[in-house]
Amino acid sequence: MNLTTKIIAEAKKENRRYLMENEAKTICMEYGIPVTKFKLAKSEAEVVKAAEEIGFPVVLKIVSPDIIHKSDVGGVMLNLKDVKEVKAAYRQIMENVKKHRKDAKIVGVIVQEMAPQSTEVIIGAIKDPQFGQTLMFGLGGVFVEILKDVTFRIAPITEEEAREMVTEIKAYPLLKGYRNLPPADIETIVEILLSTSKLVMDHPEIRELDLNPIMVYEKGAKTVDARIILE
Ligand code: ADP
Ligand code: MG
Repeated sequence: MNLTTKIIAEAKKENRRYLMENEAKTICMEYGIPVTKFKLAKSEAEVVKAAEEIGFPVVLKIVSPDIIHKSDVGGVMLNLKDVKEVKAAYRQIMENVKKHRKDAKIVGVIVQEMAPQSTEVIIGAIKDPQFGQTLMFGLGGVFVEILKDVTFRIAPITEEEAREMVTEIKAYPLLKGYRNLPPADIETIVEILLSTSKLVMDHPEIRELDLNPIMVYEKGAKTVDARIILE
């Protein structure tokens, strides 16, 4: 797990506890956690090139070690359909960020594929002072925020425990498919839970991990936003 070790070491060297989305997603990829296609770009020309390589529609987001909540500063632009929209969004993001966070160091912009809307789940990990690495699972949006319909397990988890996590939340029937909602790929969710367990066990310096949201499809899934905070 070379890349992950390298990214964490680099952040430590720079005295950063927060890994940027491109770093967190690179770590996810090394552990086989599916993420949106993405590229880091550092100029308008690079952004356009990356968008053309990834294919439209794309999403642009600010990449800065000082900005954890990217939407709060107008740092996320979704569903950009052509070069013209991409250029305008890039300028808008830079303007927004300068307005809200004048002193933020800007590394660049992450260009990524626009993941089609689907059932959203959240997988998280938090290092509990008593129990150590602990995993969390729930459905996205109101299910987590309002209904608190989430479940926890102390890592490392077995495949059986991962399956229990998925089936024991109240919203589980929605994952199996309901009315016009297609069934979600539960095997992929189980795999992501196991990979996340391995990741946080391999790297005890991870204090917090947040894959939120993960779009789950009938086949496969895509992590749309990934956050990792170090000790
Ligand atoms: P923040 O740092 O504000 O949490 P996110 O990366 O989560 O920024 O983006 C905000 C929201 O935009 C996400 O919760 C999701 O609904 C949407 N979004 C972000 N990236 C994508 C993407 N690649 N495809 C589709 N929707 C996205
Ligand atoms: Mg987010």
